[in-house]
Amino acid sequence: MRVSVDPDRCCSSGQCVAAVPEVFDQSEDDGVVLLVLPLPPAELRSAVRTAAAICPGRAISVQES
Ligand code: SF4
Repeated sequence: MRVSVDPDRCCSSGQCVAAVPEVFDQSEDDGVVLLVLPLPPAELRSAVRTAAAICPGRAISVQES
């Protein structure tokens, strides 16, 4: 799995950070998403899929291969 984020679509809601803090963080300046772990280990992948699904800005993309 490879994760990517589009900061231009992020509305700084923070759901992704709440869901998977190992993978996502937020800028201290404006709250925009920061990608910490673009290649998450197997045990985090389900939570990453959930974070992508609930992101209100649809700013998280997941490539499964
Ligand atoms: S859930 Fe989406 S909109 Fe909210 S902080 Fe994360 S990437 Fe940004």
